[in-house]
Amino acid sequence: MKVCKFGGTSMASGEQIRKVCSIIASDPERRVVVVSAPGKRFDSDTKVTDLLISCAEKYLVNGDYKPVLDEIIGRFGEIAADLGLGRQIVTDIENNLYTRISLPYDSPEKFMDRMKAAGEDNAARLTACYLRSQGINAQYLNPKDAGLFLSDEYGNARVLPQSFKNLAKIKNMEGIIIFPGFFGYSLSGEVVTFPRGGSDITGSILAAALEVDVYENFTDVDSVFVASPKIVENPKPISELTYREMRELAYAGFSVLHEETLEPVYQRGIPVNIRNTNNPSSPGTMITPARKTNGCPVAGVAGDKGFCSINIHKYMMNREIGFGRKVLQILEEEFVPFEHMPSGIDDISIILRRKYLDDDRKSRIMERIAKELRVDSVSIEYDLALVMVVGEGMNRTVGIMSRITKALAQSGINIRMVNQGSSEVSIMFGISEADVEKAIKCIYEEFFCLA
Ligand code: ASP
Repeated sequence: MKVCKFGGTSMASGEQIRKVCSIIASDPERRVVVVSAPGKRFDSDTKVTDLLISCAEKYLVNGDYKPVLDEIIGRFGEIAADLGLGRQIVTDIENNLYTRISLPYDSPEKFMDRMKAAGEDNAARLTACYLRSQGINAQYLNPKDAGLFLSDEYGNARVLPQSFKNLAKIKNMEGIIIFPGFFGYSLSGEVVTFPRGGSDITGSILAAALEVDVYENFTDVDSVFVASPKIVENPKPISELTYREMRELAYAGFSVLHEETLEPVYQRGIPVNIRNTNNPSSPGTMITPARKTNGCPVAGVAGDKGFCSINIHKYMMNREIGFGRKVLQILEEEFVPFEHMPSGIDDISIILRRKYLDDDRKSRIMERIAKELRVDSVSIEYDLALVMVVGEGMNRTVGIMSRITKALAQSGINIRMVNQGSSEVSIMFGISEADVEKAIKCIYEEFFCLA
């Protein structure tokens, strides 16, 4: 049995949904299908989820939401017409949207999630309807009926453990199940959404609950590449990656899967297959618990901007018991997560994502570190990017660091920081944001272009 998930571009038009349905019909093991809301048909297009957000925002401030709502209904109408589905399903979707907008709500977040979920919910109803019109036994399944319960963190929900047992019962259901991605229900019965891009998470939860053989994640690329195609021309495809490698690459900017996607399948060792709706014969990339190394120690290279570093200096810091804990406690009390903490004998740098550090928080944190820890100096450095070189094959392989640093040096890139975890599955370099593309290109050339 397989769970497959289709992303926004796979659901963007009638033509795309026809491809989705022929993929489903071509393999009887594809029994559970998770769908996203219709995404972009072309670069300047707007995703249905973004239209829903804009509609909800307008409604909340008593603005003129009607044109956006009509545009959303129009998008579904166009898809239904293209699929030859007739008027009834469009009327149902229209009613569904009007009901969502007119029902009372007791907080803007709840209202927003109820609206945001409409893209996936109606896309699933429409897909099931189309499959039935093609003589395939398919049914829409609502996450509440299936027992997908989430924490009541609106827009940022997490799955509750009891969901897995509930969802396992889908195994006994007849035909093909079309399940909307991106949302579930709180225990009090409210619609709650995952973070953006969260249909991947729904698919992963279902795959884990049903203990399937493989979780197929259909998108619009043939595979995961060793470096971003936006930076490197025709990068090499990856046929197999481990969860750890994928997680490290996703952390540093690979946007193939949502960050939290792998957790449920990782716990149960279920492989994930990234595939292309527009080229279903391509085998795609397999993400597995372990893999054989293919001769290249590096699996991929990725980089992400938007970091900053709080640099603390105090003479004899290494002798002061509890210094690190006190720094981290200040961050904890200010609700700021930290990413890395490289240190020397009298220095610690705390690497943070800039988005978590607004001006108020920054001033408070700097002041508290200076006063409470009586340091010699504390400063903050912006313009920091992290480049991660990732690969299980790097473990116990001599000379990787020297090849990377040589490549960076030859490109004139200054390394501001280096960090390698004990697992040796990745090496992280802190460099200036302006150097990221150049760094990825030269590391790519070093490991993937030279014979
Ligand atoms: N439709 C949602 C979004 O655009 C969720 C998803 O597509 O995975 O974020």
